[in-house]
Amino acid sequence: MERDDEWSDETWLVSGGRPHAPGEPLNAPIVPASNFELDGDVLYARTDTTPTWHALETVVGGLEQAQCVSFASGMAAVSSVFALLPTGAHIAVPSDCYQATEGIAAEGEAQGRWTVDRIATADTDGWLAALATADLVWVESPSNPLLEVAELATIAAADRKTGSLFAVDNTFATALLQRPLDLGADLSVQSATKFIGGHSDLLSGVVTTRSLELVERLRRSRTLHGGTPGALESYLAVRGARTMALRVRHAQDTALELARRLDDHDAVAKVRYPGLPTDPNHARAKEQMTGFGSIVSFEVASFQAAHDTVRRTRLIRHATSLGSVESTMEQRAALEGQEEVPPGLIRLSVGLEHVDDLWADLQHALS
Ligand SMILES: *Cc1c(COP(=O)(O)O)cnc(C)c1O
Repeated sequence: MERDDEWSDETWLVSGGRPHAPGEPLNAPIVPASNFELDGDVLYARTDTTPTWHALETVVGGLEQAQCVSFASGMAAVSSVFALLPTGAHIAVPSDCYQATEGIAAEGEAQGRWTVDRIATADTDGWLAALATADLVWVESPSNPLLEVAELATIAAADRKTGSLFAVDNTFATALLQRPLDLGADLSVQSATKFIGGHSDLLSGVVTTRSLELVERLRRSRTLHGGTPGALESYLAVRGARTMALRVRHAQDTALELARRLDDHDAVAKVRYPGLPTDPNHARAKEQMTGFGSIVSFEVASFQAAHDTVRRTRLIRHATSLGSVESTMEQRAALEGQEEVPPGLIRLSVGLEHVDDLWADLQHALS
């Protein structure tokens, strides 16, 4: 089904990608087949769109009036973008980048595949300077775990003059709250493992773009490198997308309330949430986002205090991932390779539990 221009995002998320003909099921079925009878449209599940990922790509692409290419994980989506680069390319990535993305940048650098500039997410002048020579500019906004915000439209406007590829990792905001392609990016990437799936029960990744040339190149990369989405995961991701608008909006309301309360708590030294009017990035976030999401970072007094706090909750689970119905939190500096993160920083992914129960849990953990 095509998206009607009048439809809101909520309506599209519920309706997009459904079969629509007499006798058809309302849900795109899971088709657990690698091989198909020849002389039809599909011959092999790594090379051709199967009905299940077609539904996911239709829903996610339609949200941004773009084409979507889906992958086996967020990182399969990320690496397919880096795979577009020629040998000897120059790339710019955030200095506070998602760890595995930084891993790809660093490994290619060590192998001599490309050279890398690392720019702080909020440093607009740094990005503009890097653009002059970069083949790929990769920005994550809001960033993980510091929740820094990049000025996407300003970077995109400069990018149009240089012709470098501009990709945004939009996992934290999702296409519901931020539209990198509308702001001028060439590619928008999301780990569908997070808010699109929303239930911590699948791995999936998506790239959206309005360039048909890039769609073709990403599909070819997926076929050759094999980062093909699974049928069951794609089905679950579509199922997650159906309730995504409700989940994302409810969780961000709770996140704002918790951020306010944390900000007033004596044991909390600092809160980072772009939705707080006092946040240094609030103004620019407001400019380019329609909501501020549900990830909150806050700092307690020391490494030990954070270590203890994340283990003292009952409701909020001590776990790494984010964007699910259940709230999770972790101490980022405890992870290998995250030594630059403030030692007392805790990243909280707010889920759908009642705000007062979450607050009681946090108060107990901070006491
Ligand atoms: C989780 C995540 C990824 C990677 O996604 P996977 O589905 O885990 O492979 C990339 N970028 C960001 C910002 C993420 O949070």
